Amino acid sequence: MTKYKVAIVGGGISGLTAAIYAAKAGKRTIVLEQQKQLGGRAITNKKQGVYFNLGGHAVYKGEAYEAFRELGLRLDGSTPSVDAYGLWKEQLLPIPTNISSFLQTPLLSWGGKIELAKWIIKLGKMDTSVWNQISIRDWIETQLHDPMLRNVFYALLRTSTYVFAPELHAAGPALKQVQRSLKGVLYLDKGWGTLVEELRELAVQQGVELITGCKVVAVEHQDQKVHSILCKDGTRIEASNVVLTTPPSISHKLVPHADQTALEMWNKQTIPVTVACLDVGLRHLPYPKHQFIYGLDQPIFFTHQSREGKPRPAILSDNGTKVISLFKYHGPQTDAAKDESDLEKVLDVAQPGWRNELVARQFLPKITVVNDFPHMKRIENPGPAVSEIEGLYVAGDWVSHGELLADASVASAKRAVSQILNTREVIKL
Ligand SMILES: Cc1cc2nc3c(=O)[nH]c(=O)nc-3n(C[C@H](O)[C@H](O)[C@H](O)COP(=O)(O)OP(=O)(O)OC[C@H]3O[C@@H](n4cnc5c(N)ncnc54)[C@H](O)[C@@H]3O)c2cc1C
Repeated sequence: MTKYKVAIVGGGISGLTAAIYAAKAGKRTIVLEQQKQLGGRAITNKKQGVYFNLGGHAVYKGEAYEAFRELGLRLDGSTPSVDAYGLWKEQLLPIPTNISSFLQTPLLSWGGKIELAKWIIKLGKMDTSVWNQISIRDWIETQLHDPMLRNVFYALLRTSTYVFAPELHAAGPALKQVQRSLKGVLYLDKGWGTLVEELRELAVQQGVELITGCKVVAVEHQDQKVHSILCKDGTRIEASNVVLTTPPSISHKLVPHADQTALEMWNKQTIPVTVACLDVGLRHLPYPKHQFIYGLDQPIFFTHQSREGKPRPAILSDNGTKVISLFKYHGPQTDAAKDESDLEKVLDVAQPGWRNELVARQFLPKITVVNDFPHMKRIENPGPAVSEIEGLYVAGDWVSHGELLADASVASAKRAVSQILNTREVIKL
């Protein structure tokens, strides 16, 4: 039986990144993915020539971007303009993002505008880690005075994190994410499927074995040491190190006696984040001015992903179709029919007549954006090593040490691999 130095469960962004770094270090590496295709939540579906991610996806200039650049990925796409509107009582009002909207918008009082300008300048160079121990709500309520500016910041922080629980989200990481979004995000040409494909190509080049359609059912260990992975079809794969990039509940299930390891607490402390997403492909935008909208009195967000940007608009269709993504951020209660109708109503306000221009649509009533985030109830940061079992590691978007979204998937993948490499040097595996 072939023995692998590193076996990775899950072929999403985290698993592929971990595999590439391990293989680049010369370690024999295998990835096992249960689906027929790689990519996890970063796949892109094509409908009538339109590329739909599983809900709108943007690359922030954070840990993932840095790693992808370090690995030499192309990341073709566009940084879109950020002229934004706020939706307040079914009216769209400009959010000050330039001199003209600053002077003209009735959204904020003069006091509110000046406070906003001060905070935007301050945010650019602020050390956000000083706010790690308080919630977004506490930060907003103690630092901001103007009531409408508070609404703007609730929307800005919710949109940057996808979390509709300001009383739970740690303010520091959320503010850092806003800092990053102010630098401009990247919408990828043909969606995140191209990123997955670039990672796949690189993994193959580095000699990683990629197995799809293989559901892992157990990570076997003995004498507190990992020795193999068992697949549903009965295949057993020997490995000295296993990186689980599966959700926390599945990671817990895969490891016999997980209740006697840190996986027990890491699993219990997670708070998954879900959203409803409506994506539409339109022949033309009936109202081209409305490109980017924050919900100020409801937890929604609207972005035209193929809008003007640098160096050009992102290519999200083969035929010039414009792609709009809308989100409704979920609280504890969800109602798929209401969410869909609320999102359609936003389109009615922003793009009246959009139904006549419709080429393709995708509605995802409830999708997990991240399996956990840096929140106030967290007891400790998970991973990378499950210290009770030698050779067992976790990675993925829930294995955050302050990073958010795909940045957490990538940063945790790198942490797991660097720990494997150091450990191996020490114990000469
Ligand atoms: C609507 C939406 C919008 C988002 N927007 C952004 C954004 O703008 N920016 C951003 O950075 N991030 C965004 N994200 C988050 C980002 O997509 C995820 O954080 C990232 O794709 C997660 O990658 P992962 O590898 O950690 O997990 P996953 O993609 O979930 O990968 C885990 C893999 O493990 C596999 N698996 C599970 N169990 C088994 C098993 N037993 N055996 C074998 N394989 C198994 C799964 O099939 C899956 O492929 C968004 C997500 C959503 C849903």
